[in-house]
Amino acid sequence: MASESLIQKLEATIDNIPDFPKPGIQFKDITPVFLNPKLYEEVIDDLAEFSKGKIDVVCGIESRGFLFGIALAVKLEVPFILIRKKGKLPPPFIAQKYDLEYGSSEIEMKADQLKPGQRVLIHDDLLATGGTTEAAAKLVEKQGAKVAQFSFLIGLEALHGEEKLSSFNSEVYKILSY
Ligand code: AMP
Repeated sequence: MASESLIQKLEATIDNIPDFPKPGIQFKDITPVFLNPKLYEEVIDDLAEFSKGKIDVVCGIESRGFLFGIALAVKLEVPFILIRKKGKLPPPFIAQKYDLEYGSSEIEMKADQLKPGQRVLIHDDLLATGGTTEAAAKLVEKQGAKVAQFSFLIGLEALHGEEKLSSFNSEVYKILSY
């Protein structure tokens, strides 16, 4: 859906850092996008085009999911809800555990912000293994809302994250796929 020109500009802007934060990981650094307000706006417009009229709420995943998610929600004129790492939100909140390569982690969301039946977009900057996003989707469903869509700037296809999201029967959009 994204134009060739947006894809090319983003590819040229996002930095690839080998072996960060661990050997074997190629880190996608999106921070140079924020040096270019016009490009940032094009990203928001493109994400908005995908979600326009299809969702009632944007849920953004800490922390890079906040950086585009809030602007996207404002553009779509819908509420934004934060999905945060454990221990950051005051009560009432609900939590969801998920497995990491070694050990486990937990994300949380305020318990009184999402309404049953609302159509939700879950947004993050990057889809890797899909573990975090799947946990976010479970949090949404626990509250009786529907995960209508997922969107990301980047999808790392070799990690098959999208397979973890298939059970939610939602649309998935990535501007860039590697
Ligand atoms: P996952 O749960 O494996 O899909 O991981 C997704 C989260 O980890 C996202 O919030 C990303 O910001 C971050 N992440 C994972 N892999 C990378 C990577 N290669 N470059 C940048 N961020 C990453």
